[in-house]
Amino acid sequence: MKMEREVVGVAPAAPFDPQIAREDFPILRERVNGKPLVYLDNAASTQKPCAVIETLTQFYRHDYANVHRGVHALSQRATERYEGARETVRRFLNAPSADEIVFLRGTTEAINLVAQSFARPRLRRGDNVVITALEHHSNIVPWQLVCATLGVELRVVPVNDAGELNLEGYELMVGRRTKLVALTHVSNAIGTVTPLRGMIALAHERGVPVLVDGAQAVSHLPVDVTELDCDFYAFSGHKVFGPTGIGALYAKARHLAAMPPWQCGGDMIRTVAFGHTEFADAPAKFEAGTPNIAGAIGLAAALEYVEAAGLQAIAAHEARLLDYVTRRLSAIHGLRILGTAAAKAGIVSFTMQGMHPHDIGTILDAGGVAIRAGHHCAMPLMQRYGIAGTARASFALYNTTADIDALVAGIEEAKRLFR
Ligand code: PMP
Repeated sequence: MKMEREVVGVAPAAPFDPQIAREDFPILRERVNGKPLVYLDNAASTQKPCAVIETLTQFYRHDYANVHRGVHALSQRATERYEGARETVRRFLNAPSADEIVFLRGTTEAINLVAQSFARPRLRRGDNVVITALEHHSNIVPWQLVCATLGVELRVVPVNDAGELNLEGYELMVGRRTKLVALTHVSNAIGTVTPLRGMIALAHERGVPVLVDGAQAVSHLPVDVTELDCDFYAFSGHKVFGPTGIGALYAKARHLAAMPPWQCGGDMIRTVAFGHTEFADAPAKFEAGTPNIAGAIGLAAALEYVEAAGLQAIAAHEARLLDYVTRRLSAIHGLRILGTAAAKAGIVSFTMQGMHPHDIGTILDAGGVAIRAGHHCAMPLMQRYGIAGTARASFALYNTTADIDALVAGIEEAKRLFR
């Protein structure tokens, strides 16, 4: 397939100073087990800047009320801020319209919505859905569920030893009966950045819509859904410095218009009678009940924070960190890095000979270094490499080479203890 590997977009950027960013994150001044916190578990969840913490406090102190219902001043203020947050998400993703942004609990809920409301009604026995071997469980299991009940095949694009997708395999898999491609933008387990543009273009040539799981991308790379031309893009607020319990789904307007509601209740209707209910248009149609109002407003503050830092600058900073950590870890005898794709975001996964990943995580924690150990909700990918799990360090804009030095010192300490 004539599909060039996409190199992570690191254009020359203004130098980024992580020390200044660190000042914005009060939790980074915590001590853990008597040691300064070194937080390298950003792929699981990122920490929150003052801008987000203070936005939440200010909203609850001054503007809080339910949205879309009240004629009173506070309700109108809250509604303006909630809908303003939708506009911020639109701008962040460069979506054509704010009506194409649905607020949901996060990536998981967004993918389940697409699986149940978009895919299920379109799938027939003998069809197939294409995913990849890199997926997080939340981009596997929702498809398994609909596929199994409808007699639909779930096809999985394999990866090579480096953790890169087999694009020739992909080209063969997307066929006449393919009804959807669902793939991650960045692998949470090993950091691979997938060559989205070419993969989306190929699917579209064959009339197949594409969902992108952007959970691990939005805090690392500029995302432009108009340029990507994806049909759906899902992400979670908590992985991009925002609150938990809030995320968003971008979906092309014509898809949202054709999708039936999935959950029903207040706020998603135009009129209700016992005989008949008329639903509101999207996005309200998919936001039944009182939404996570403060969460959406906090998410907007987080996205504004990232925009101010500049995603090109963040990507360049994290590329330097990735380069440094890869060099330092490669020099450790008995350490194996899992995932050596040419295009990677700020995630490094590794195993140590004779050591369980949980032991590495526990010893590092004793030194104040927070990493993740386990299968990273990507058990099929771990099976592909014949292992149960890895230790994973994942970076954000506030990480420094000193954090990586602390990681390496902790690994050396673990080696000494296990000798
Ligand atoms: N996809 C990927 C690639 C992820 O890393 C995660 C979170 N680890 C998810 C989906 C699920 O995100 P959430 O739990 O916020 O819904």
